[in-house]
Amino acid sequence: MILHDDRPHEECGVFGIWGTEGVDAAHAVYYGLTKGMGLVSEVFHPEVLQKLKGNIGIGHVRYSTAGASCIENAQPFSLNYAKGTLALAHNGNVINAKDMKDELSKEGAVFGGTSDSEVIAYSIARERMNTASIEEAAINVAKRLRGGYALLIMSPQKLIGVRDPLGLKPLCLGKKGDSYILASESSAITAVDGELIRDIAPGETVVITKDGIQSDTKLVSSKKAHCIFEYIYFARLDSRMDNISVYDARIKGGMALAKRYPVDADVVTGVPESGLTAAVGYSKYSGIPFIPAFNKNSYVGRTFIKPTQSERASAVHMKLSVIESVVKDKRIVLIDDSIVRGTTIAGLINMMRKAGAKEVHVRISSPAFLYPCFYGTDVPDNSQLIASEHSTEQIRVQIGADSLEYMHIEDFEQMTGDLEICKACFDGKYPV
Ligand code: AMP
Repeated sequence: MILHDDRPHEECGVFGIWGTEGVDAAHAVYYGLTKGMGLVSEVFHPEVLQKLKGNIGIGHVRYSTAGASCIENAQPFSLNYAKGTLALAHNGNVINAKDMKDELSKEGAVFGGTSDSEVIAYSIARERMNTASIEEAAINVAKRLRGGYALLIMSPQKLIGVRDPLGLKPLCLGKKGDSYILASESSAITAVDGELIRDIAPGETVVITKDGIQSDTKLVSSKKAHCIFEYIYFARLDSRMDNISVYDARIKGGMALAKRYPVDADVVTGVPESGLTAAVGYSKYSGIPFIPAFNKNSYVGRTFIKPTQSERASAVHMKLSVIESVVKDKRIVLIDDSIVRGTTIAGLINMMRKAGAKEVHVRISSPAFLYPCFYGTDVPDNSQLIASEHSTEQIRVQIGADSLEYMHIEDFEQMTGDLEICKACFDGKYPV
């Protein structure tokens, strides 16, 4: 969504830029979203981008496995209301959005889609009728939101960013020339050749206008709960989040795994891409050489989001193939960041055995997934989590491994130091 003066031009797909006059916001949003996320390229053809004029812009990419995948739920969500126009992009999940929606519906609001973002945008527009500024309206609404969120709100003159008080979802501030950028991940800032300035603090609201940046701390609370799964899997390797390098955290995770669960082996390898960095860490600590053992077909998308089990299983085979010379007659340590249903790891062990691996020892750089996530991290419900109904030994037998060990929950400290984290998907202790 790009705003020029007060006219909304286009709507679709959190990355935002506030540029001075003449800055091409559309291309910056495009590159900020595309790097590492894909598919944006299929929507925003050059001709489409060309038409998006303006110097302030926000964009969003949605990884749609939960909630309806329809145009009404595509973001940013834009709204014309009595005081003007606003657009909103939201990353995360608000657990009381439905209650807020019911309240608004009772007052006569009609919703086009089923997204939290629409509810938040309507709530802000409504609140704006009684407040002096859009940021005040946004803060008042955010006080009522429960869950994890990074919000970008755009008005004709302003770009506003709000990060949830617990810091469940990441949000950071960058700069390119005289333009300011707000993005979920620092890697999106570097993708547009910008510089990371700092993280937006949990509960902080920033307002970017032609007069610069203003920060508000009304939502700040003493309790924090940064999502550990960002460091384990979700965030990009080249991102820095809350002052921690995602890459360093994963290396340290692999080292902690090697320290706690050593094994005699010839080769350490990882599941591409998500298990590779922890595998390097495991190798570093154990002294066992790290050798990539899989070839990845980059033209096959995420196997995780295929709808049926047989499609997921065959997608693993299409996506990854084993390099026989690396594994034949070898004792292998195979690292992945997580096991959800067990499909990926079972398929890979099977391939390794067929290629002549002598032993396959699995080490997972996170504890067993036991509980669903309600804050937008897409950890499915218990029925799909193999560990919630099977012991580690049962899973080992089922996936065909010689041994299986998960990261010890206390070893998160090795990864993220004294950062206060949310690890509810592993221990069931939900922060909200
Ligand atoms: P599964 O094959 O069901 O056991 O899923 C585990 C694989 O999916 C691992 O390789 C993970 O890197 C990846 N994964 C774990 N959680 C997610 C998620 N929420 N979204 C997408 N992929 C995931």
